[in-house]
Amino acid sequence: MRIHVDLGRCQGYGNCVTADEKHFDLDDNGLVVLLDEQVDSADRERVAAAVRSCPADALRLADDDS
Ligand code: SF4
Repeated sequence: MRIHVDLGRCQGYGNCVTADEKHFDLDDNGLVVLLDEQVDSADRERVAAAVRSCPADALRLADDDS
């Protein structure tokens, strides 16, 4: 699976970074940066929790072919 970000929605709350520092960071403008958009199966639950934690609905998990 891979992570999709809608930067137009990101409000820089940082919940995703708190939930998963391996895949998410904030840039100098306070917007989310994907450190790795690819999600290994071992990380799937943690990334899914980070996606759910976003109050701005800016994150999405999708299959590799979508
Ligand atoms: S939790 Fe959502 S709004 Fe906050 S930094 Fe992450 S993507 Fe942006």
